[in-house]
Amino acid sequence: MIILKLGGSILTKKSSTIPQIDSENLERIAKEIKKSLDNHNKKLIIVHGAGSFGHPPAKKYNIGKIFKNEEYPLKRIGFSTTQNAVKKLNTEICKVFIDNKLPVVTIQPSTFITTSNGRINYGNLDLIKKYLDEDYIPVLYGDVVLDDKLKMAVLSGDQIIQYLAMNLESDRIILGTDVDGVYNKNPKTNDDAILFERFNSMDELDSLDSTTNVDVTGGMIGKIKELLELADIGIDSKIINVNKKDFVYKALENEDIKGTVISKK
Ligand code: ADP
Repeated sequence: MIILKLGGSILTKKSSTIPQIDSENLERIAKEIKKSLDNHNKKLIIVHGAGSFGHPPAKKYNIGKIFKNEEYPLKRIGFSTTQNAVKKLNTEICKVFIDNKLPVVTIQPSTFITTSNGRINYGNLDLIKKYLDEDYIPVLYGDVVLDDKLKMAVLSGDQIIQYLAMNLESDRIILGTDVDGVYNKNPKTNDDAILFERFNSMDELDSLDSTTNVDVTGGMIGKIKELLELADIGIDSKIINVNKKDFVYKALENEDIKGTVISKK
């Protein structure tokens, strides 16, 4: 079973303040996934980020931050607004997948996952297993969820893949983003950034201050932290640039492409 994460930076115009899909990328990636499945059927879960649909409302309403009791009514509206925005993104993404004959089913995280202090403490994966058994492609995404300490939290697509990988038998994890992998510093703002082919510890980063624009989930740093925890228990993952044509296809086919393997080996 392969878990494929498609970053918000790939499927949406992430720096946009209004929600905007990157239709060109989405259409191309849908075709690449289809081509790979036609080549050789495989069990696949897709997880996508929230991009310019989820991050602006989550940030506006400070979802996941401690708040006073009297602020709860407004916070609930913020929760609903964010949940609705990411649901809309998911609907648009899945429509393109279905148009490309991919049998996707949406599994909405906020309906079956809860967190404690932002970390998943409950999530029943039985239904996902059943869909996989029937050769559907479950699609999950970055969402807002109920939290037993904070009342509500932002659940990143990156934490979802970590949870899925730990609790389902996944053979491979592919993370598609808009840079070639993990660098010693943000490659978008540092021309001299050096790419790691393998990455095994946070100590290798020059700067921890590398969250990007409006991301409320930790950007590349958040991603690496989730993946290092997987590497700790022996599950490796690879970050690749899926702005590059055929990279999703090649990664699904397990071809050797440029990227960063997150591994403790
Ligand atoms: P996605 O939306 O694809 O999940 P994010 O926007 O959360 O991705 O994170 C990817 C971004 O992280 C890249 O566009 C890059 O600018 C930024 N970034 C910051 N630090 C680093 C680093 N050390 N290595 C690679 N990318 C980094």
